[in-house]
Amino acid sequence: LAQAHSAAKLPKATFSFEFFVPKTPQGVQNLYDRMDRMYELNPIFVDITWNAGGRLSSLTNEMVYTAQSILGLETCMHLTCTNMPVALIDEALDRAYKSGCQNILALRGDPPLDGSESTGDFKYAKDLITYIRKKYGDHFDIGVAAYPEGHPEETSGDRILEYLKEKCDAGANFIVTQMFYDVDNFIDWCSKIRKIGIDIPIVPGIMPISTYASLIRRAKWSEIKIPQHFLDALDPIKDDDYMVRQKGTELVAEMCEKLIQSGYVNHLHFYTMNLERATVMILEKLNLVEIVRESQVVTEAMPWRKSLH
Ligand code: FAD
Repeated sequence: LAQAHSAAKLPKATFSFEFFVPKTPQGVQNLYDRMDRMYELNPIFVDITWNAGGRLSSLTNEMVYTAQSILGLETCMHLTCTNMPVALIDEALDRAYKSGCQNILALRGDPPLDGSESTGDFKYAKDLITYIRKKYGDHFDIGVAAYPEGHPEETSGDRILEYLKEKCDAGANFIVTQMFYDVDNFIDWCSKIRKIGIDIPIVPGIMPISTYASLIRRAKWSEIKIPQHFLDALDPIKDDDYMVRQKGTELVAEMCEKLIQSGYVNHLHFYTMNLERATVMILEKLNLVEIVRESQVVTEAMPWRKSLH
């Protein structure tokens, strides 16, 4: 009850969902059904991730078209530039434009797994941003990735901030962060980025906790810290997925409350992992769920759009 009470007093936050491209046609169909259901939760936008090269990139474009033009969801397309010659970037942007999509998360992408040099025409995300702005002016809102706990390829916190500033100066107008659970570190990081003159919205990436094993695996992969109080609460119940999800929901909802109360954040971006339940449980805990019927759904503009144009 105490928690419900404190959530009720929270300033209203908006939210969005990230989906990745499934590998099979059945997976794609299942995801469309899920997106259709999650539309009723009234997210401000949904993201579709990008996999460089081949069928999966084309599928990103197809899914952006379906989400934006058929399901009526404001959609943000991820686009990476590793191993992407400019002709492929042009094709991806053109298809996004023709789908009615107005939001791109501009990324470099991970380096080729075999250690070879990227064959793409752009080296860093900032080069892709400069290119999109030159070609499309203000048509697209452009988001960039940021890493409150550092990036695996760069150990200097100051240099990471410098590179983030370069991306913003190149024309980005919102920031989406890597997943994290260390709120104090995040708040400290926000204050640093405001001090160096980055004033665009910061959207925290929230990863719900579904199982103990996936929590540990993803934190290791992303090189982020799991706070001790998370481990203390979850370790004794780690073999009971139901209990982990319940406790994980409480912990992540509490973290979201602190983020909103910090004043740096008024929007939460959920890494859904193409699943529904864990994200919905957190939204319910935060009192952010207001199911609306399809006819009542209003596709609002991105919260930061009016400040750009
Ligand atoms: P950049 O900002 O270009 O940085 C890449 C590296 O180069 C960093 O180590 C940075 O410190 C360094 N650097 C940047 N500028 C300079 C410079 N001027 N001089 C020297 N070094 C520099 N990957 C996918 O493949 N598909 C996705 O859909 C996807 N979505 C993502 C969404 C989010 C929110 C996040 C946080 C990550 C996502 N990623 C995705 C992963 C991302 O592509 C990788 O983390 C990648 O390694 C870095 O991408 P970036 O856009 O941050 O690159």
